Amino acid sequence: MKAISIIKKNKLLIFVALAYLVVFVISPDKAMKSVGNSVYYLVEMLQVLPVIFLLTVVIEALVPKEMIIRGFGEKSGFKGNLLALLLGSISAGPIYAAFPISKTLLGKGASISNIVIILSSWAVIKVPMLANEAKFLGINFMIIRWVLTVIAIFVMAYITGMIVKKKDLPVDSKKTETLEIKEDYCIGCGLCAKLLPEYYEMNQNKAVVRKVPEGKDALQAVKESIEKCPSKAIILNKEEKTP
Ligand code: SF4
Repeated sequence: MKAISIIKKNKLLIFVALAYLVVFVISPDKAMKSVGNSVYYLVEMLQVLPVIFLLTVVIEALVPKEMIIRGFGEKSGFKGNLLALLLGSISAGPIYAAFPISKTLLGKGASISNIVIILSSWAVIKVPMLANEAKFLGINFMIIRWVLTVIAIFVMAYITGMIVKKKDLPVDSKKTETLEIKEDYCIGCGLCAKLLPEYYEMNQNKAVVRKVPEGKDALQAVKESIEKCPSKAIILNKEEKTP
């Protein structure tokens, strides 16, 4: 039983090993070339991935969730799309380096559409790539391809965002609290911001969320502020979190 579960968990690895075995039997020369290529990419990955994992840890630990939600979340709109395009375009490193970063951004509240834009622009319209393209194929070719590629990326992002939901992704999920203020209900009395300035602030006479409460004490304090809000404008939701 244990052997079967190990095989199930590593089926892709086993398939690749078997493919190598078959190629070794049929054509040892090609198999050796293939091993050489694999070693080359393995060494490249070992050089790149530690930096990428360090970057994901920095994003996870130092970048506030609210900042990611504002910049790349569901409600970030076209501005968020442009920011995602910029992030993907100025990135460096191979495309596989983008996946751990994308997973971290998703876990912090980035939308699926914006992740598609980051991944796609990282893969096909990085700035150094464009510079080389203009040098070898001409500036006109580069500009036309860039414009058409950006249009295709945006279309792809919107379609993927409509079809794929976060709960469909193969990552562990757990419930987490999110704080919301119904703008239409808020009468701008400022009580919440006075009680808990860490979690609320006033903006143009309306309360806005500064920080999502984490931990038992913070949640309790926020629940009390919800009860005190005279217009019942503050709502604590539970939603799926993809870490
Ligand atoms: S306490 Fe309620 S009504 Fe008053 S500012 Fe905060 S959210 Fe708005």
